[in-house]
Amino acid sequence: MHAVGKRKKAEPKDFSCSECWQLNCYRRDKRFPSFCQTEAIQPAELKRVTKKYQGRGPDARIAHAAAEVEGTYYGKLTRVEETIAFANRIGARKIGIATCIGLADETRIFVKVLKANGLASHTVLCKVGSVDKSAIGIDDGLKIQKGTHESICNPILQAKLLNDRKTDLNVMVGLCVGHDSLFSKHSHAPVTTLITKDRVLGHNPAAALYGCGFYYKRLLSEGRHL
Ligand code: SF4
Repeated sequence: MHAVGKRKKAEPKDFSCSECWQLNCYRRDKRFPSFCQTEAIQPAELKRVTKKYQGRGPDARIAHAAAEVEGTYYGKLTRVEETIAFANRIGARKIGIATCIGLADETRIFVKVLKANGLASHTVLCKVGSVDKSAIGIDDGLKIQKGTHESICNPILQAKLLNDRKTDLNVMVGLCVGHDSLFSKHSHAPVTTLITKDRVLGHNPAAALYGCGFYYKRLLSEGRHL
């Protein structure tokens, strides 16, 4: 058992958007709280960031495509369809897919969907390169099946191979927590997520948050040291 110290009372100076109930930055129909980050930002800084969404630069193109998909299809299209609509609007023709081995079947179906919508694709599985976990110093005890060859997930190689193919948009399908960080870091093309892996909750991590009032109340236990 870990001793749990008395929790320090949070003060407004520690607050961020998660402690805000007004959410006034959305429609400006309420009030900004005292700790508001919209109120605190320097006008010149806000202008500098906003400029990135204007004109025809790469960030602007993505922002406008995303807004168009949201505004046109709000609540009408599935994420799979929205991904295609987004790809079309940024002019992507070749879609890179960085997939988890555990979602290879779903990826095969996604490839068919892309093809039906006139989009080419190239898939790289997480185990590409087939490098055993021991080669990067991971203990045998951490393998899922001890004493066997068990390849690392290789998100940097996934990104490199898709970079070599000059894909226009890369889609992550169920990459592990952390492997997705490395893939995003090393991908040259913009990255979007189709499936967020949750091995326990059928790839719906939000379910843990929906259920934390009762079934998943352990999420709110302190001192677990996960
Ligand atoms: S930016 Fe301000 S108004 Fe918006 S959520 Fe954060 S604190 Fe609330």
